Amino acid sequence: MMLKANDPALLTWVNVPAGSDFPIQNLPFGVFRRGDAAPGLCSAIGNYVIDLAALASHGFFDDLQFDRQVFSQPSLNDFIALGKDKTRAVRQRLSEILDDDRESWDAKELAEYFLIPMAEVQLLLPVHIGDYTDFYSSLEHATNVGIMFRGPDNALMPNWRHLPVGYHGRASSIVVSGTPVRRPKGQMLPPGAEQPVFGPSKRLDFELEMGFIVGKNTSLGHSVSAAQAEDYIFGLVLFNDWSARDIQQWEYVPLGPFLGKNFASTMSPWVVTLDALEPFRVAGPVQTPEVLPYLHAGGDRNFDIQLEVAIKLEDGRETTVSRSNFKYMYWNMCQQLAHHTVNGCNIRVGDLMASGTISGPSSDSYGSMLELAWRGERPLPMPDGSTRAFIEDGDEVILRGWAEKDGVRVGFGEAAGRVVAEW
Ligand code: MN
Repeated sequence: MMLKANDPALLTWVNVPAGSDFPIQNLPFGVFRRGDAAPGLCSAIGNYVIDLAALASHGFFDDLQFDRQVFSQPSLNDFIALGKDKTRAVRQRLSEILDDDRESWDAKELAEYFLIPMAEVQLLLPVHIGDYTDFYSSLEHATNVGIMFRGPDNALMPNWRHLPVGYHGRASSIVVSGTPVRRPKGQMLPPGAEQPVFGPSKRLDFELEMGFIVGKNTSLGHSVSAAQAEDYIFGLVLFNDWSARDIQQWEYVPLGPFLGKNFASTMSPWVVTLDALEPFRVAGPVQTPEVLPYLHAGGDRNFDIQLEVAIKLEDGRETTVSRSNFKYMYWNMCQQLAHHTVNGCNIRVGDLMASGTISGPSSDSYGSMLELAWRGERPLPMPDGSTRAFIEDGDEVILRGWAEKDGVRVGFGEAAGRVVAEW
């Protein structure tokens, strides 16, 4: 069944430039601040943010019966916690307000009160993230890394096709797009050396990922089934899991990622609802061997979302270094959530679950420099004549993502961060 807010025939009275990530069919949610004013919740259309508290103060949501204070908070958490019935009704109401054919609303005359040029506001981290988990769910990525570190004969560990491998990450260092990323320092073992050294990472990398925001609490001891998991997913973001490969490689045995990962992760400011992505649902890869029953989700659980990574040099020139797609994920979000909670681990509204690096089948679709430049053996050419095996100081890494079908493009904006040597 098609949600009314997703109708590709919907047109809006707001001027939306061609190719915009934010047509009337998207209506993502975020948090903004204008000047010194207190932060508040917003949506997006074209080049405007939609001030939700301003709309609420004019009575546009009065009949939906929730406390409109949720729109005057510094995060989406209280809004998300209203539940999908309410948040879905708000998105539907926004599509009615912005609809070119609207009959019952006087929104157009009030536009100056609730539409603010995006360039005039600061977009903030949209969610207070209590806990962050990172998975490792791309078969191509796991295979590439396995070949590099263990050789082609046992690239995948024996557990990989049986469960969505993951680890608990660090929420405190997740930053919104546009925040500079300081090159981490740490301990590493240089190639051929017998003793570790301390210094700035020489192998700073990005990881092209998407993440989903948990939309519903569970209580300790309870599990979410794979079939019901989408009820617990509010929406998706772009996510760059910055990784210092030299620090990571020296520290990760036997307990896994630590200081090579937790210095920063960059998230997009817009949370695109699972509802808005409904038209882009596709089947995932065939899973062999068959997974255990608790990991059976049934139906099409992947989403056709095109992904790109660009490196922007200090001189302003930008090169796209990867073109991938979220549909390549071997393990889907429902399986990740079912696995995460199968032991009774509770989840909370605002938790972030990231996909793991999303690599595609071809060498220009890999989701990290480690793979794109194959451990430094095939450096990528840059427009200024230099090459990149890893990310240099001054480079800005920009993730972009969008789904497109029937002339409608539902996009995520950007997750961008520039690497600096020092603050
Ligand atoms: Mn990762």
